[in-house]
Amino acid sequence: MTTIDLHSHSTRSDGKETPTEVFEKAARAGVDILALTDHDTSSGWSEALEAAVRVGVGFIPGIEVTTLATHSRGNRSWSFSVHMLAYLPDANNADLAAELYKTVNAREIRAKKIVDRLAEDFPITWDLVLAELEDGATIARPAIADALVSLGVVFDRAEAFDGPLSSEGKYYVPNENVDTMDAIRKIRLAGGVPVIAHPMARSEEVPEGRKMPEEHFEEMVSAGLGGIEIFHRDVPEFVRPWLSSFAAKHDLVITGASDYHGENGKPNRLGENGTSLEMLQRIIDQATGVEPHL
Ligand code: AMP
Ligand code: FE
Ligand code: FE
Ligand code: ZN
Repeated sequence: MTTIDLHSHSTRSDGKETPTEVFEKAARAGVDILALTDHDTSSGWSEALEAAVRVGVGFIPGIEVTTLATHSRGNRSWSFSVHMLAYLPDANNADLAAELYKTVNAREIRAKKIVDRLAEDFPITWDLVLAELEDGATIARPAIADALVSLGVVFDRAEAFDGPLSSEGKYYVPNENVDTMDAIRKIRLAGGVPVIAHPMARSEEVPEGRKMPEEHFEEMVSAGLGGIEIFHRDVPEFVRPWLSSFAAKHDLVITGASDYHGENGKPNRLGENGTSLEMLQRIIDQATGVEPHL
């Protein structure tokens, strides 16, 4: 059995370990092929490749693109955050690179706003957040969580997300994102394969179907969606049969992955969910951006 894990993060975004450490741990965990998919950046790829070759793990270059989908029915309209995995895209493609650049900058402005709000009640500063981040890494809420941990406000990231960083809380500011359908088209134009990450994650929090209606999936397929990440710890069991039959109906690839963020970043463990070799092959066959390193 080949263990293929198609979703992981490093210190180039909100993971706690460098790309090198991630690949060293993947080798020890018995993972044969790993995709590094940092949020909105490909800056970890070269380090990942070097480490992957050294430790004998296959490397699939990827990016987890932060997007926002807007849906309306009648006179109601609502938005929801969609994470779109892009496998094997040409990261130098001008349109894709410009989108990622915009997103990363918007993330920084938004993170500063969250910190300003938090600073009204906690002794947090922007410098303390930056101290938790590598230069040039994509900023996401976990960096703010780490600053709150260093300050002793919370014990760990999970407690920060359950408390001050909750998307329901008063300090929250949403990301300003690229439209999901535009992102799918841009990933394709860059030769990448778009696979929706952890769809309907934790959707027990919302009435079934309201957040991501079937029309939304149909629209993504029309835009060029290539696959669905079904086997992920945050995808509730009750939506998996529906996602599987939808994938079969539209001939989409189905994947599984850990979404590893480091041993102390999240409980997700390398290799805890996997993708079949056949499905990975279908991704590789569709991609024209960059080469996989198997
Ligand atoms: P953001 O994109 O800035 O809104 O931050 C979302 C990121 O926070 C996701 O990519 C997750 O990896 C991370 N995250 C969400 N919930 C938790 C949690 N309970 N513990 C650790 N990290 C989390
Ligand atoms: Fe993350
Ligand atoms: Fe995600
Ligand atoms: Zn992820």
